[in-house]
Amino acid sequence: MSHRIAVVGGGPAGLTFARVLHRHGHPVTVLERDPAPDARPPGGTLDLHEEMGQLALGKAGLLARFRALSRPEGQAMRILDPDGTVLRDWQARPGDLANPEIDRGQLRDLLLGPLDVQWGRGVTEVVPGARDGALVRFADGRQETFDLVVGADGAWSRVRPALSSVTPHYTGVTQVETSLDDVDTRHPGLARLIGDGSVAVYGVNRSLVAQRNSGGHVKVYAKFRAPLDWHTDPERRMGLNRQAGLDTGLDLADVEAVRSALLALFDGWAAPVLDLLRHGTAFVHRPLHVLPVSHTWAHVPGVTLLGDAAHLMPPLGVGANLAMLDGAELAESVAAAAGPGDLDEAVRAFEDRMCARAGRWATMTTAGLERLVSPDPAEAVALFDEVQPS
Ligand SMILES: Cc1cc2nc3c(=O)[nH]c(=O)nc-3n(C[C@H](O)[C@H](O)[C@H](O)COP(=O)(O)OP(=O)(O)OC[C@H]3O[C@@H](n4cnc5c(N)ncnc54)[C@H](O)[C@@H]3O)c2cc1C
Repeated sequence: MSHRIAVVGGGPAGLTFARVLHRHGHPVTVLERDPAPDARPPGGTLDLHEEMGQLALGKAGLLARFRALSRPEGQAMRILDPDGTVLRDWQARPGDLANPEIDRGQLRDLLLGPLDVQWGRGVTEVVPGARDGALVRFADGRQETFDLVVGADGAWSRVRPALSSVTPHYTGVTQVETSLDDVDTRHPGLARLIGDGSVAVYGVNRSLVAQRNSGGHVKVYAKFRAPLDWHTDPERRMGLNRQAGLDTGLDLADVEAVRSALLALFDGWAAPVLDLLRHGTAFVHRPLHVLPVSHTWAHVPGVTLLGDAAHLMPPLGVGANLAMLDGAELAESVAAAAGPGDLDEAVRAFEDRMCARAGRWATMTTAGLERLVSPDPAEAVALFDEVQPS
């Protein structure tokens, strides 16, 4: 029997779910709020782990194409002291395919393939328990019912309230992102500093990380501990605005004001490191939010969650990997379920496995964020030594 299945969200979780179902010959409706695949910048590079993201791509039959697109050399990682001293300089061994990098846009296009995504279909609400399935309400006022609605709609999920009243909370760490284009030709010194992969610099309660994407594009992430409203009030704790020389609030849309604030915040760091901020183009303000470490819910027939919608955690290189593995595993379970009772049992069993696994990773990434943006920068280097193969 063919179930009516919809997935809300065309990110790594939703597209992997849909692609694996498609491979098993099952129809699936993909509902995505964005009006088109390239409606907004796709974001930075992702490293896909052998036992997570790559495993999921294998289930979708896409591993060989991933290998052709991805950048194993992007696994390289250099750690500097704020004064520019190189503390660690790790290169991947030839043939090391443990965590190759891929641009998010490339991954999205790889997953999209033959999928028929309904673009511009923002979901506002899902109501379980309707007589003929779960009811999906759309921003344009229309509604449809499905046997199973899968919420893969990210951190601020509109599907989650059908299952859980929990909402994300602020971690105390804010990230401001910027980027550089054509780094090899326009900024060769920075290109050498970043190398083939990433460079990370850890100071007291703050860090700067630059990651190479394909085509000479670089994403730079400044992280620091601050109250959520640090930019609005000059008297906020840690004196962030005072360090930035601000006696009024900071306008986050003012590129030069944000640049000055960040340069003041990282004052005293080595000049080549600060050049990452000096040459950055636009700045994106991203306070880091998470769901509680052991977020779970009482099973509700007809609705479930995947990826960040289910288990938003600090961005420490795991979220997209887990999202894809969730998607692939749920798709396999659903594909194997014959009748309606089987479908519900398959989803329930999957939720138990997913929530247990996500809880373990959320515990690790929460502790990891504490150490990476820490009063003692040596903690960040120690964490690198613990996780990096020698
Ligand atoms: C700066 C940063 C760096 C990161 N780096 C890494 C990394 O290196 N490795 C890694 O594994 N993870 C990383 N992550 C985490 C990773 O980005 C997320 O965990 C991952 O994108 C989650 O995938 P998802 O499909 O669950 O959600 P999302 O990627 O958020 O996708 C959700 C989709 O749903 C759509 N949507 C939202 N609301 C609606 C709606 N109401 N109706 C219809 N559609 C909707 C959105 O438009 C989007 O397409 C990083 C995160 C950040 C912020």
